[in-house]
Amino acid sequence: MALRSILIHPDPRLKKRADPVRAIDDDLRRLADDMLETMYDAPGIGLAAPQVGSNARLLVMDCIKDKDAAPRPMVLLNPAIEWTSDEDSTYEEGCLSIPDQFADVTRPAEVDVSWMGLDGQQHRERFSGLWATCVQHEIDHLNGRLFIDYLTPLKRQLITRKMVKLKREQARETTA
Ligand SMILES: [Zn+2]
Repeated sequence: MALRSILIHPDPRLKKRADPVRAIDDDLRRLADDMLETMYDAPGIGLAAPQVGSNARLLVMDCIKDKDAAPRPMVLLNPAIEWTSDEDSTYEEGCLSIPDQFADVTRPAEVDVSWMGLDGQQHRERFSGLWATCVQHEIDHLNGRLFIDYLTPLKRQLITRKMVKLKREQARETTA
């Protein structure tokens, strides 16, 4: 397993719709392993393939926050939202591609999601709480959508400007 570098917004690769996974091969398994390792290392609770520069419809997540509880690493291929609750919930969201920026986003409180596992089997599960927010945030990534797209244009521009500055500073550090 290896850590992959996480793309920082703004980046055209974060705005693209990811392509469905057609075959489960060693490359895809390695990508999923690397993404889990990268997510835990960050640390984060979810990561979508476009964030590491891949255009596969693949996301990983683990929303177990209790350090004493067993981890639950999940790999979802071609995830699809099958049902959403009428009830909404608001969470303060962040994103590994938009470091240190947080904002309230309102989404359905519960969702049913279907996906293919690395075992090639179809799965379906109802997610609620943090899991529901996380899976919707990550599926958005596969459709080229970021959590800041839910904010007002002004807030989005402010955050984007900060990220441009951050990337400029990072580029300067690596060339210094
Ligand atoms: Zn994100």
